[in-house]
Amino acid sequence: MNEKSYKSTCCYCGVGCGILIKEKSNGQILVEGDKDHPVNRGMLCSKGMNLHYTVMDKSDRLLYPQMRFNRNMPLEQVSWDAALDRTAAIFKTFIAKYGPESVGFYVSGQCLTEEYYLWNKLMKGFIGANNIDTNSRLCMSSAVVGYKLSLGEDAVPVCYDDIELSDVILVEGANPAWCHPIIWRRVEAHKVANPHVKIIVVDPRKTQTVASGDLHLDINPGTDVALNYAIARVLIETGKIDAEFIENHTEGIEAFKEKVFEKTVSEYAKICGVELQKIKTAAKWIGQSKGFLSMWTMGLNQSVIGVNKNLSLINLSLITGKIGKPGNGPFSLTGQPNAMGGREVGGLANMLASHRDYANPVHRNEMQAFWGGGAISEKPGLTATEMFQALADGKMKAIWIVCTNPLVSMPDANMIERALKNAKLVVVQDVSSKSDTTKFADIVLPAAAWTEKDGTMTNAERRISYLNKVVDAPGNALPDTEIICRFTEKMGWGDKFSYNKTEDIYKEYIKTTENTNIDVSGLDFEKLQNFGTVQWPFTKKMSTDESSIGTERLFTDHSFYTASKKARIHSVPFQNQSEQISGDFPLILITGRIRDQWHTMTKTGKVNKLNQHINQPYVEMNPLDAKERGISDGQVVMVTGTRGEAKVKVILTNDLKKGNCFMPMHWGKILNQNFGRANNLTNSLVDPRSKEPDFKYAVVEISKY
Ligand code: SF4
Repeated sequence: MNEKSYKSTCCYCGVGCGILIKEKSNGQILVEGDKDHPVNRGMLCSKGMNLHYTVMDKSDRLLYPQMRFNRNMPLEQVSWDAALDRTAAIFKTFIAKYGPESVGFYVSGQCLTEEYYLWNKLMKGFIGANNIDTNSRLCMSSAVVGYKLSLGEDAVPVCYDDIELSDVILVEGANPAWCHPIIWRRVEAHKVANPHVKIIVVDPRKTQTVASGDLHLDINPGTDVALNYAIARVLIETGKIDAEFIENHTEGIEAFKEKVFEKTVSEYAKICGVELQKIKTAAKWIGQSKGFLSMWTMGLNQSVIGVNKNLSLINLSLITGKIGKPGNGPFSLTGQPNAMGGREVGGLANMLASHRDYANPVHRNEMQAFWGGGAISEKPGLTATEMFQALADGKMKAIWIVCTNPLVSMPDANMIERALKNAKLVVVQDVSSKSDTTKFADIVLPAAAWTEKDGTMTNAERRISYLNKVVDAPGNALPDTEIICRFTEKMGWGDKFSYNKTEDIYKEYIKTTENTNIDVSGLDFEKLQNFGTVQWPFTKKMSTDESSIGTERLFTDHSFYTASKKARIHSVPFQNQSEQISGDFPLILITGRIRDQWHTMTKTGKVNKLNQHINQPYVEMNPLDAKERGISDGQVVMVTGTRGEAKVKVILTNDLKKGNCFMPMHWGKILNQNFGRANNLTNSLVDPRSKEPDFKYAVVEISKY
C-alpha cells in the first residue's frame, strides 16, 4: 500500500523527540520514532508511541465556532465571521471603555513558535498592553529567571549529547524516568555502558528515577537551597572548587562563601532531612567528576522560592568550573514541547521578541518600529495567576484562552472557577471539546491540531525543528495563525498581519533575532527541512557553511551574557517561604505527573493503552500517617486544605516520608464532583521574581470519607 512519510516532532514534552508520520493511501496515520533524529534516535515513550490514536480519533474534536449570549444557554454553532465579529466588537468596547489592560491572552507552551509570535505581536504591538502570558509560567519561568541572573540570558548551556560525556548526573526535583522518558533512557544506557557513572537523585519521593540512581537524597520538601549549600560547603572545604575559573569567569564568590558558611553541613543536613554522609558522598562525586551535569524541572521551578532553588543549583556548576565544557553544565528539562520557542518570541508578560525586555525603552522602541503598530506599554503585563485574579476582582474583563485548560491546571482551581464566572467574556480556542474550561466559554473557536498545520518548535536543548502538516483539520477548524490573522482584520490591523504562509511569519520573527544572543537569522524552513533540526544560535554567517547545524553548547569560551561577561554566583536565603503546616493541616501535599498522562488528559486520556497504566486519581500517603488517622490502603479519603478538598482513593506507600503526601495533577472534576482535582488544594503563592506557583507545597489534612 502506498504511503507518504513526513517528519515532525512529538507534541508532548520538551525532550522534542523526532517522529516520522506515515500516511497510508487509505488515510490511516502511523507514527514511529525517527531513527535519524539526534534526540531520540528512533526511540519513543508510551505517549509518543500512541500519538497516532490522538490524530485519528476525532470524536472529541471541536468542529465549528460556537457562541452564546448567556452562560445558562447552550453554545450554538455560528460562522467564523460571526464568532470573530463578536469577539472583536467586545474587545474594542472593553479597550475603549476600560483600557487595553482590561483584556488578555492566556496561551500555551504547546503553541507553535509562529502562533506565539503573532499572539505576542497582537497584544503588545497593537492592543497596547502586555497581558499575554502562557502556561509556561507554571512550568519554566523560575529556570528562566535563574539563567538570566546567573548566566545573563535565558539560555540552556548544554545539549543532550552531554549526557554521554558526563560521569556524574545530579537530578534534582525531577522524575525524568516518567516525565522525560527518552532522556532517561539515554542516561540509563550511558550508565550501563559506563558503570562508573554516578547518578544522584534529589527527591522527597522514591520515584522511578530514584530506582535507577546510585544515591537518593530524600530531601524534605522546600529545602533544596539548604541541600545545595551543604554540597557547596563540602566542595569548598575539600578544595574541590575551580579557583582559576571562579577568579576569571565569575562574580560573587566571597559573599557566597559567607552565605554557605552560615550553617554547618550537619545543620543543613538536619534541615533537609538527608543523612550527612549522603551529602558528603554526593559532593565527593561531583568534586571528582570530569563531566558534571545537573538536571532539574518542576521540583525546583514550581516553588515560592523557585528562582533561589535554581540559582543555588547553577552555583554548583559555577564554583566547580563545570560549565561550557563537554559533559558539563546545568540543564533545565523543559516541561512542554515549545516552552522555549514561546520565550524566544517573547510570549510572556514580561518580555518582547528575541528575549528583549518590555521594561527597556530601547527594546520597546525597536519592536514598536519593527511592528509598526502603537506604543508598547511600559506597564508590566499580568502573569498567569495575576490574570485570573484580575478577572475575579473585575479589573480584567475579557480573556482569550488558547490550547490550555486552566480550570484543571492552575493552582487554587476554585479561585479560577470564580474568576471565569466573573469574566465578562471568555473565549476558548481549543482542539478538544473535553477541556473543562469550555464550560465557562462565551465563544468557542475550533483549532487545528498537531499534524494539521505546519510551523516550528524549540526543545529543551535549543533545538529548533519544523513540523509538517500531514492532514487537513476536521470540520471548520483552523490553524491558530489563521484565526489570529482573521481576528486582526476585524480589529482593523489586517495589513500588519498579512501572511501567505507560515514561513512568512517565521521570516518576520527571525529578523528580530539578528545580533541578539538567540540569533537565528541564518535559518529558514528549507534549512530545517533539509537538516531536520538546528540548535540556536544560527547566524547568517553560520548559514554560509552548508554543513552547520547550529550551536550545540554555549559558553565554551567562558564568556557569559552578563554585562561583565562573568557568570554571577548568587547568595540567596535558604529558608522556604511556603505556607506552614498547622494542627489543622499537618501534611505537605506534593503534586506531579504520572508516566502515561499529559497535562489535563484531553489527548492522552483518549488512548485506552495509556489509561491502563493508572486510570483514576489518588493520593499517596505514608502508612504511619494513615495509621494515626485509622486509614487503610485503597480506602476513599477526603484531602482537605484551606482552599478546597478532593475525594480520592488512598495508596499507602513508604515511597514518601511521614508528613508528606502526593497527588497527580491531571484530573479535573469528575461528574462535577470534587473527585480528584489536585489543584483544589494548591495555592496561589508565587515566586516573587518568576511568578511561578508553589505547586509542590500545599498544607492539607487527610481523613476517612
Ligand atoms: Fe514525546 Fe517526550 Fe515521550 Fe519524547 S519523551 S516521545 S517528546 S513525550
